[in-house]
Amino acid sequence: MLCIQGFPAPYRKVLIRAVAIVRQRLARPPGPISRDLLEDLRAIVSGSRPKVDLVYGGQTDACRMSYGRSAGYRIMLCRKAFQERREAVVLFHEMVHVASGWELDAEAFENAWFTRAEGARQPTRADWETFKDDGYRGWWVQMDPRTRRVTDYADRPLLTFPPRPRTR
Ligand SMILES: [Zn+2]
Repeated sequence: MLCIQGFPAPYRKVLIRAVAIVRQRLARPPGPISRDLLEDLRAIVSGSRPKVDLVYGGQTDACRMSYGRSAGYRIMLCRKAFQERREAVVLFHEMVHVASGWELDAEAFENAWFTRAEGARQPTRADWETFKDDGYRGWWVQMDPRTRRVTDYADRPLLTFPPRPRTR
């Protein structure tokens, strides 16, 4: 269950629509997903437990470098997620983290399940650093760093990431 708190009224409206978009996507998964993860994500949007707090981060310091973040059962969405119309994708990405997903999991499902027009963004250089630190593994998926192909632990392909952004 998502408990929405502290959003300005226009953003609250948009956010309720974003929750509906995520719920619809979970009702008809566009790609492979482990049953456990799917059930966890569905429980977050539709179940009575766990209760996940959805709070507004506005333009606080925590929002300078990111669109949203999560810790435990709390998801923060930043103002720029709304300004850039990425609220549904950022919400979904953070939900994957709440469901034990690491950065590779969150980025993989974000990009496999949503288009760029819907707000999905390819992994940044910082994301790639995290992938490397995590041994190119997530909780639910893994990646071959040479081919950039992401598969789940049942070996089902999710997507192939574009080449890692170059260092400027
Ligand atoms: Zn993330």
